[in-house]
Amino acid sequence: MYRSKAYSAASAISPLQSDTIPRREPTDRDVQIDILYCGVCHSDLHYARDEWHSVMPTVYPCVPGHEIVGRVTRVGAAVTKLKVGDLAGVGCLVDADPACPHSQAGHEQFSPTQVMTYGSPDKHGTAPVTYGGYSESIVVDEHFALRIPANLDPAGVAPLLCAGITTYSPLRHWQVGPGQKVGVVGLGGLGHMAVKFARAFGAHVVVFTTSPEKEEDALRLGAHEVVLSTQPDEMARHAGTFHFILDTVSAPHDINAYLHQLAVDGNLTLVGAPEKPFEISSFALLFGRKSLSGSLIGGIAETQEMLDFCGVHNITADIELIPIQKINEAYARLLKGDVKYRFSIDMASLKAE
Ligand code: NAP
Ligand code: ZN
Repeated sequence: MYRSKAYSAASAISPLQSDTIPRREPTDRDVQIDILYCGVCHSDLHYARDEWHSVMPTVYPCVPGHEIVGRVTRVGAAVTKLKVGDLAGVGCLVDADPACPHSQAGHEQFSPTQVMTYGSPDKHGTAPVTYGGYSESIVVDEHFALRIPANLDPAGVAPLLCAGITTYSPLRHWQVGPGQKVGVVGLGGLGHMAVKFARAFGAHVVVFTTSPEKEEDALRLGAHEVVLSTQPDEMARHAGTFHFILDTVSAPHDINAYLHQLAVDGNLTLVGAPEKPFEISSFALLFGRKSLSGSLIGGIAETQEMLDFCGVHNITADIELIPIQKINEAYARLLKGDVKYRFSIDMASLKAE
């Protein structure tokens, strides 16, 4: 066991602060990664503040962070995927039984044996729960370490490990492509990646935003049209016309208004995970045989596919690079929707402490 510098929260109302955490020595199958950048996902904030208490109560101290890019510094004897000096990524998952049918199908995220990057019981016994990427280094089974395309800026790649795969996976599952009208609700970390992917897949992309100042950016990011969702006349103009809508909003809002935007047989997929349940009118689904579904990150093979796609198409997140000392300020800004469009933490700032 060795210790790594980290930022942790001690309770739901505590700010994140400097700490040290235990990490295991790499086993035969493990790689040790020196973390260079870690994206700041709204899930980190939900988790640090125990907003998902009824589903997955937070264990304190907690170390968030599941958009990790770093340099491999040590590899176990049996590791073949990566070597010392390689860039590597770690997303939301660090383990799952490879024999489980979900893992076999490439959907480790649905396995009852899955271990999340932070907040899951640590089966190695290093700590009570796993600790995430707001830290100097991480040790992970090689299966859960991703290869990073060499042509991309690693600070902008980090958010692909969650925001990227969480939007890529449902867009692929619902076969979004040419001839389809696709809506993206919320232009934040996930939303801006959804716009880039839906555009790259050839769909007609419409952004629904509550923020008038983001309209220009939405077009620059790849949207064909922007709807200010607070304006009833703008909403009415598109009613009943969408094949697919991806809802990335982090706070309670009226999803019936978006079900109303769907065409017959259209689907609305939720990836946003607000604290409180939604109220859904069955009539919003009945008229038009519409469907409502959810999607959780993506499996490891699909995450690699997404990263390779980004390498070929030169796609990264639009980031604001911050030192880790600004993490509490970044959380406050996330709550105001004030981020363009993902914070990425420069971990050199933690090493310098
Ligand atoms: P984010 O960067 O904070 O973006 C959320 C966006 O939602 C905001 O930029 C804003 O966009 C919109 N929004 C915020 N409050 C709103 C409100 N009260 N009413 C309407 N719109 C509002 O968050 P993120 O990191 O993209 O994460 C989004 C959600 O996805 C979070 O709940 C997160 O936990 C969840 N998530 C789920 C998965 C999964 O696997 N399913 C993975 C990662 C994250 P506008 O300004 O454009 O309106
Ligand atoms: Zn996330």
